[in-house]
Amino acid sequence: MDYASTTPIDPRVLEAMMPYFRERFGNTMSPHSWGMEAREALERARETVATFIGANPMELIFTSSATESNNLAIKGVALANRGRGRHIITSKIEHPSVLEPCKWLKKNGFEVTYLPVDVHGIVDPGDVEEAIRRDTILVSIMHANNEIGTVEPIKEIGEICGERGVYFHVDAAQSLGKLPVNVEEMRVDLLTLSAHKIYGPKGVGGLYVRDGVRLEPLLHGGGHEYGLRSGTVNVAGAVGFAKACEIAREVMYEEAEKLGRICRRLIHEMLGIDGVHLTGHPEKRLPTIASFWLEFIDGERLIMELNERGVAASTGSACSSGKIEPSHVLLAIGLNERQAKSGLRLSIGRWTTEDEVDYVIECMRGIAAKYRGM
Ligand SMILES: *Cc1c(COP(=O)(O)O)cnc(C)c1O
Repeated sequence: MDYASTTPIDPRVLEAMMPYFRERFGNTMSPHSWGMEAREALERARETVATFIGANPMELIFTSSATESNNLAIKGVALANRGRGRHIITSKIEHPSVLEPCKWLKKNGFEVTYLPVDVHGIVDPGDVEEAIRRDTILVSIMHANNEIGTVEPIKEIGEICGERGVYFHVDAAQSLGKLPVNVEEMRVDLLTLSAHKIYGPKGVGGLYVRDGVRLEPLLHGGGHEYGLRSGTVNVAGAVGFAKACEIAREVMYEEAEKLGRICRRLIHEMLGIDGVHLTGHPEKRLPTIASFWLEFIDGERLIMELNERGVAASTGSACSSGKIEPSHVLLAIGLNERQAKSGLRLSIGRWTTEDEVDYVIECMRGIAAKYRGM
């Protein structure tokens, strides 16, 4: 029930990667045949991943994670375009790997506007339009939220940014492989990807950078990845990421439909338990995330109770230095501090079964009965 945190690697992905750990271990920068073999594998992988998102291979670079891609997109655009302006727009419900670079930029002379969201977690494109100023250089809004699954009106926001001549970055780490992600249809300039959320390996991410976007690299060195990300490339990782995209391209629609059905039943049964409330949008949500806040138990304790029953789940509230912090996403959709510490995210994926859903519901009914009396 925690596929949104990370997924097991698909056996077909692992198989595709193995030769690049063993005999095909070359460095892509080497001029000899081992290097050429690695280079060819890397470029094939780049083409597969780029095609999956409707991009040109020359516009896609491999990174170590979505976290790195978000940092590079935000800090890279800010540093390369500070002569044009120093204002950035984002939302209150972004992933920490977007919010923290923004915070760092603020300490370094930039201004950041954090747009509010409605009770379902939706950013109003009209708010984006109003927030754009003459010195705005970048808008960064996620495609789908990782805590509550809400899908944002990316196309509308992309159109506004295009008209106003402001770069538009989208974190698609959570939506890739579950919803269609196409850089032309979404009108984005930069797009963040991660392999380990779609049954690929950990330690590989991607960043789409539209031709012509001015970006300052964060890592300087040998000039790998078109000079935007120096460091010997993780070829096995890129090959695995590409295989994961290839599989997703084949099964995505069927899988989303099947998981959507399971997820709707999970939500329906959960809402039958007294004191359980849905978070996120009733329809505009990922087919894989069921999210709630609960009246009778806090998130940390609930995760422990579920863990004791063999269930992995997640709460949005981060536990920093022993103290439970309320989820910034749940606060942004209007919940109070106590409610925002009681979030539960059940996320499903490729190998989730109906029996597992039955078992989780049974566990939740037991936990609710135990804590409601307390
Ligand atoms: C998981 C996730 C990230 C971070 O991805 P990593 O590859 O683990 O760094 C960023 N944004 C969103 C929306 C995510 O779900």
